[in-house]
Amino acid sequence: MTANIIDGKQLSSKVKEQVKLAVSQLIKKQIYPGLATIIVGDDAASSIYVKNKGKSAKEVGIKSFQHTLPEYIEEKNLLKLINELNLNDSVDGILVQLPLPRHINSDLVLDSIDPSKDVDGFNLLNAGKIYLSREGVIPCTPLGCLIMLRSIKTELRGKNAVIIGRSNIVGKPMAQLLLNEDCTITIVHSKTNNISEIVKEADIIIAAVGIANFVKAEWVKKGAIVIDVGINRIILDGKNKLVGDVNFNEVKEIASYLSPVPGGVGPMTISCLLMNTVFQCARRNNIDLPNNLTDLF
Ligand code: NAD
Repeated sequence: MTANIIDGKQLSSKVKEQVKLAVSQLIKKQIYPGLATIIVGDDAASSIYVKNKGKSAKEVGIKSFQHTLPEYIEEKNLLKLINELNLNDSVDGILVQLPLPRHINSDLVLDSIDPSKDVDGFNLLNAGKIYLSREGVIPCTPLGCLIMLRSIKTELRGKNAVIIGRSNIVGKPMAQLLLNEDCTITIVHSKTNNISEIVKEADIIIAAVGIANFVKAEWVKKGAIVIDVGINRIILDGKNKLVGDVNFNEVKEIASYLSPVPGGVGPMTISCLLMNTVFQCARRNNIDLPNNLTDLF
């Protein structure tokens, strides 16, 4: 058996088309969604992510405001900028690219974003809503994974889902989302004993570890659905290569569905950011969320 590949690039294009349609509906009502992105320092990978996010926003008709701040900016000046963006009516979404330099308190920064303009779902209030199963903003990467799972039209209820990694931005919200879908969830992490035995029980595996080729074929139950969140840069045969947390070539012979890296969760994350921006814009203007977007859930 060879796994069906969950094509994140293709699926994310479909999401973007729906976002574009929703934006055009808002523009007809003289409402122009805007996304502000903030990057502190000049980390090459982060700069590329932020640039791509701004480019994608423009592609779907969302106005993009990019703020690049120096590495040594004082925390109070970053908070001042966020406050200005909170008060700026042209801005519907504020994204602060993580990680921030060590001298800045990330929690304080994320909590200073107006919850109605939080598009990452990392703000205290929005993070809490997921755990209470209330409508709010779902972090982009777990949301992208959920849409990928929905796209294969499989019944999630009752499935045994194992999430590898317990970060605030991927593992924890992902587990909660799948719990909200009536999955039975297990989170494994760096201090878990017998990871392979636990993963072997999974109908759904979400790998968000940050270690290249971490999940091996012998860990995977035949027919399991595997979503690979990892982005790891390795050197193979003298060339730079991007690989996930799952040993793709091995696992594709065992899994029923598998998402690739690149071309899997990465593009979905960006599309979900655009979707969250439109959601926030619609909510802030008391407009019902466009059906074409809510249908994706
Ligand atoms: P993180 O470093 O914050 O968390 C990694 C998690 O893996 C931790 O909870 C840790 O307990 C666990 N872990 C580490 N070593 C382990 C081990 N040996 N065994 C079991 N668990 C172990 O990372 P993150 O921000 O959650 O990101 C995880 C990966 O996903 C990274 O490769 C990151 O680049 C990628 N990522 C991709 C996207 C995307 O859009 N595709 C978005 C976010 C993160």
